[in-house]
Parts: sequence; C-alpha cells; structure tokens
Amino acid sequence: MGKRVNVLITDYAWESLEPERKILSKVGADIVVAPSGQEEELIELAKEVDAILTCWAKVTRKVVKMAKGCKVIGRYGIGVDNIAVEEATRVGIIVTNVPAYCIDEVSDHAMALFLGCARKISFYDRAIKKGQWNSQSGNQMFRLRKKTLGLIGFGKIGRAVVPKAKAFGLHIIVFDPYISEKDAADYGVRLTPFDELLKSADFISVHVPLTGSTHKLIDEKAFRKMKNTAYLINTSRGAVVDTEALVRAIKENWIAGAGLDVLPQEPPDTNDPLLNQDRVILTPHTAFRSVESLLDLQRTAANQVACVLRAEKPEYIVNPEVLQSLNLRASLQT
Ligand code: NAD
Repeated sequence: MGKRVNVLITDYAWESLEPERKILSKVGADIVVAPSGQEEELIELAKEVDAILTCWAKVTRKVVKMAKGCKVIGRYGIGVDNIAVEEATRVGIIVTNVPAYCIDEVSDHAMALFLGCARKISFYDRAIKKGQWNSQSGNQMFRLRKKTLGLIGFGKIGRAVVPKAKAFGLHIIVFDPYISEKDAADYGVRLTPFDELLKSADFISVHVPLTGSTHKLIDEKAFRKMKNTAYLINTSRGAVVDTEALVRAIKENWIAGAGLDVLPQEPPDTNDPLLNQDRVILTPHTAFRSVESLLDLQRTAANQVACVLRAEKPEYIVNPEVLQSLNLRASLQT
C-alpha cells in the first residue's frame, strides 16, 4: 500500500460521511473534518492535506495559498462561488463540482415556492395557527393559467422548470445572455431582454450562478420595474438579490411577495427585516435536498477527488485551463 493521503472536509450538511469514506479509503485517503469551517482554522488544516472537499465553507485565497500539497478542491454542489477558483488555477489545483445531482429537487422547490406564494399557503397556515380562520385575509389571488413566468438563467435548473410550469398553463419567457434563440425555441419559450422580462412577468424565478455580473442583479431598479402583483422566487444564490431593496419593494407594495431558499447571509441575523415579512416565504437553503440527491452528491463529489488522487482525470472540472498549466500539481495519466 502506498503512502496514505489526507482529504480535508471543511463542512457538510448531512448525517454520515460513510459514502465518502468508502470511496476515499480505496485510494488510501483518510478524512479530516474541520471542526468549524472558519477561515483561520482552514488555513491551519490546509497545510497538511492532499485534497479538500467543501460544501458552503469558504475556501478563500488565503486557504488555497496555504494548501501547498493540495491537488484538488471538490465542491459538494453546483455553484463554486465559495472557492477561490482563480487562485486555485494559478497554483495548479484542479477544482471540481457536481453539476447535476439535484436538478429535479431545485426545480421542484422553485415550483413549491411559486405555488406557495400564488396560493398563499404559508400566509394562511400562519394565520390559522394564530386562531384566524378567514379565507379573505390573504387578499387577491389570481388564476395561474395564462399568467407569465419569467426565468432568469436558462441552464439545467431553469430548463427543468419549463415542463412543470407549462403543466400549470403558464406562458414562459427567459432572460439568459448566453443562450441562443434556437435553444429557447427548442424548449418552447421566448428569449426576452432583461427589462422586458421584469415588466411583463407575473412570477420571476432566478436560476443564475453567483458571479460578478449577477451579484445584486435584482436590485431596487429591477424591483421598481416589476408588476405590483408579481412574485420573485430565488433558489439560486442569496447575493443575486438585493434583500434590503426587496424588503422596501414589499413594504411599499412595488411587488406582491417573494419565495426565497437562499439569502445573502445564511443563517440571517435574527433582526433581519425579511424575517418579519408576511409575504415572504423562506426555506433554509434546502432546495437541493432529498435522500437520493444527497447520496448522489456525496458519492459524485468524493469520486472526483478520488480520481485525481488515483492520477485520473475527473469528470467535472470547473477550471479545465489548469490542465494545460505548467503548475498542474496532479500527475494525470493521459
Ligand atoms: P447552469 O450553469 O446549468 O445554468 C446557469 C445559467 O445561468 C446558464 O445558462 C448561464 O448562461 C446563465 N447565466 C449566467 N450569467 C447570467 C446572467 N448575468 N444573466 C442571466 N443568465 C445568466 O446552472 P444550474 O444547474 O441551472 O444552477 C443554477 C444555480 O442554482 C447554480 O449556479 C447554483 O448557485 C444554484 N443552486 C442552488 C441550489 C439550492 O439548493 N438552492 C442547488 C443547486 C444549485
């Protein structure tokens, strides 16, 4: 048996690491779990590891710089906004993700938030439990058939929403600067400029990655353009929405409400004004969760790391340019 190696798991959101252990032990790897996932702690732990697996903890530039023996950083998930990918590429570390483990779950969750808003499920539930049985207290509700759903971001999850929303008779428009008219037409949806989508959608569901260009994409200007009967659904990343502007938009009735699975700060401060908004439905970043998706996530993320440790090219590389780099730390068989 060759030299044993260490894989640092910065954080995870499930009960057992058995699936990872099973896969990683086959490549002679031991798992080191970070107690808190805080930056200072990760900086220390990173010094001794051959690979890092991270869920939400931030693998910052400082952490990457100290991880001198690290060959691969694997994300448990799709978005890699919590990893300093540029720095990793610069020093020759492969970054991997798991691109498709929860497409069904997240698109279902977007639909659940959408229906919860449209049918005011949480609102009535809270009212009844406070002793108010009053079908009129929810104010106006509109028929869904023939209303317009605007999708911002038309990748895997946005596309998975389409047949589900069509089943409710919704007309679907899409804003995504990186896809073609033909792509949209293949799904029976229409590409629309951003402002037009804001103005004409009755529901807007956001499915973009968090990048420089999507940070606070939905800001005060965007809310002011939306219909005052419209709802915003966000299952992507919290920082894509300016939540201070959202609170104003709701309090001042620029829009009707929102359903959010993700927040700029998770968990939010207990005095975050969003927590007092009756017309906002919140879930704690759970859109990806199901028994099946988690197992898929754990196995696929661990397999990416195991591949690199076995000197094989992993399937889901986020920074493929690193493979051409003279600094590449992994010695991959071609
Ligand atoms: P994807 O990469 O398949 O699709 C993203 C789409 O966004 C692409 O089509 C891209 O062209 C588009 N896009 C990029 N920048 C844009 C911009 N400025 N304006 C409009 N469109 C833009 O990703 P996906 O699998 O559909 O996932 C989308 C996001 O959902 C992920 O990046 C992740 O952050 C988030 N997510 C959240 C959860 C959760 O549990 N809430 C789970 C999985 C993924």
